[in-house]
Order: sequence, then structure tokens, then C-alpha cells
Amino acid sequence: METRSRKRQRSGSIDQDTVDSNTIELESDHEDETAVRDEHYYKEDGDCVILVGKVLFKIHSFLLKRDASTFEDMFNMPQGTAKDNKMNTDENPLIVYDDVDDFRALCWIIPTVYTDQQSLSKANIKNLVSLFIIAQKYHFESHESFSRNLLRKHCASLESKPTSKFNYFRKVPESRLQTLLRIAVLTEKSYELDKEDSLTSLLQSIWIKRLEDKNDLIRSALTVGEDLGLRKFVAELYYLELTRTKPLSLDDHSLAYAHPVVDLGVTQKLALFQGSWSLRCYWSKMVSSFRAKPFACVKNKDHQCGDVWDDSWAEYISRASNPEPFDPLEGLSKINDIIVDAGERDKEGRAYDCAMQAIDTMKTGLKDSFAEHFLGPLPKLDTRIKSST
Ligand SMILES: [Zn+2]
Repeated sequence: METRSRKRQRSGSIDQDTVDSNTIELESDHEDETAVRDEHYYKEDGDCVILVGKVLFKIHSFLLKRDASTFEDMFNMPQGTAKDNKMNTDENPLIVYDDVDDFRALCWIIPTVYTDQQSLSKANIKNLVSLFIIAQKYHFESHESFSRNLLRKHCASLESKPTSKFNYFRKVPESRLQTLLRIAVLTEKSYELDKEDSLTSLLQSIWIKRLEDKNDLIRSALTVGEDLGLRKFVAELYYLELTRTKPLSLDDHSLAYAHPVVDLGVTQKLALFQGSWSLRCYWSKMVSSFRAKPFACVKNKDHQCGDVWDDSWAEYISRASNPEPFDPLEGLSKINDIIVDAGERDKEGRAYDCAMQAIDTMKTGLKDSFAEHFLGPLPKLDTRIKSST
């Protein structure tokens, strides 16, 4: 523990590489533990010493009290007898429990004027995350909202990029992603959460992409998704698990298959199987009834969407005879590709817009229904189901 925090403080500081040589012994129960003065943010002229992990910071308390932060309350608390309790020496610091790098990020930003977005935009993604987490914790209002907004923009810019470009989000421990998602949900307004460009939504899709890319277990994401009541996220995680799971043949002579053991609880496995069953029902219905077209096309010589619709589904079904992972969303994408191909090969330049539009609508509808497949209808629908059985 101790070596780890030393290491981190060596390599993880905001803008220095060297280590402070000022180490002093602290009187504590752990005699072997020494606190180190932070090289950058131990200001001799500061009036407040703060111990974070094994690192001492000395800063101006007026900086900490700005921006409606909770430090204001902390410093203004009646101190009783404690004229000596001034928290201004290394031996008598204010002790807080934070990540050291997070606290450095705070020290870095507080001397700036709150509205100075210029300096914030110089922060790299790691520092921005630190700042957002700690600004939220201590309620630095404007630093929190500025860092959230920059973080949101950064995440949005990753949307169109391949996962390999996610450097920070690919490597960061999942516990950090959990914290970020929790704080995003806490700080964004409830009507914003489901919007595609909210930090909450963007973090979810980044996490899903990371899981697809690294083939990690979904459990950690699932836990936080369930805690926060993020139905859509939870359902997407189940869908990912479903479509990437390869069936296990029981043995050479058996016609039956087992589901591989995944790191899920009993209720979670039940949700996975419920969704799997429901989606298989949906897909077999789609495949058997594709001739009932979900669109009306003005059939003329330039617009023959009905024909291409039938042909594309038939082609997909004939191709899909090879075993492949069950993935209805991917199935719809393949049908879409067949339609696009047909359009490109069409020498008479016919358009198949209605068919393509219909596939698009089906894909969106399918994605939106994941939660119902895996988790059942929203509670308000329960009574209707009960009374109909
Ligand atoms: Zn048409």
C-alpha cells in the first residue's frame, strides 16, 4: 500500500517528474510510514497543511473556500478550545481521504478564476477526470461544471473513433469508470441523462466499446448499472454477453449445449436467459414474417423497394445457414448491407430508400427494446400483464 502510493506520487504528478527530498516523520501509529511534502503544492507561504495519503500539501485556505466548496464549512466550523488546532503544521494537518493525483488536480485549478476555461482546456484527460471527481466531492460548483462539460466534449469526440484511440479509457481501472459514471448520474439533470450526448450516455457507450474490445467480464459495469438504475445500459451489457458467448457442446455424442459459466449472480443469469429467449422469439418471428413489409412503397419503375426487401431477406436467410453467434442486430445490419449492395449494383439506378429506412427503424426499435427483453416491462405495466393471465 505504502510503496504503491509512493510510486504513484513519483510518476503521477501533474507537471513534475522529480521527487521531493523533504521527507519528515509523522507521529503516528505506523512508525514506518513517512509523509512527503508535495514538490509543487507545498507552498511555504500557505496557511493550511493537508495530508492526503502520504503526501502533505500546504495551500492558502482562502483558495479552498471559494466557489461554494465544502471546505468553507470545514474551515468555519467552531473550533472549541482549538486555537492550536489550526491545521497549519506538518504535525497537525487536515487529513482528507482522496486520491493524491485527484488532490493535485484540485490544487492546480483553484488558483485560477473559476470562469477561466482557458486553463482547464490545457488539462489532459487524466487530470480532467481527477478534477471532475474531486470538484464534485468538495462541491466546487463552477470547476465541477466546467470540467464535466470538457469531459463530455472529450468523450463525444471519441464516439466516432476506434477503441484503440481511447488510450485513457482503455487502460483506466474499472473502479474509476464506476466512480465517473456515478458522479455523472449525480451531477447531470435527470432529463439529460438519456440524451445521446450526455456524459452519462457517452460514458456508457465508451464502457461498452471497451468491453467489446477487451473481452472483459461485464460484472463490474453491470453492478454500477444496476445500482444506478440504468436499465438501458444494463440491457446492453446483457446483449453484449449474449452475442459474444460461444455455446459449449456437452460432449461429442450430445446434441445439447451448455451455457458457459460466466461471472454473474443467479438473478443476473436469469435475466440473461430471459432476454436470450425473448430475442430468439422476436427474431424467428421477423424471419418468418418478413414478407409483411413494414412500409408502403409507391411502386414504380424507379422505386422497387418491395422486391429488394424480399430478395435481401431471402438472401440473408440462405446465407445464415452456417452456425454463427446469435445476434439479431448484426442480422439486420447484414440485410442492410445486402440492400445497399443491390442499390449499388443496380444499373437502372433504382432507389431502395423505403427498404433501407425500414431496416434502420427496425434496428433502432430493437435496440430500444433490449431492456424489455432482458429485464421485462417497466413496473407500471405489471398489473396489465397480471390481469391478462
Ligand atoms: Zn420505395
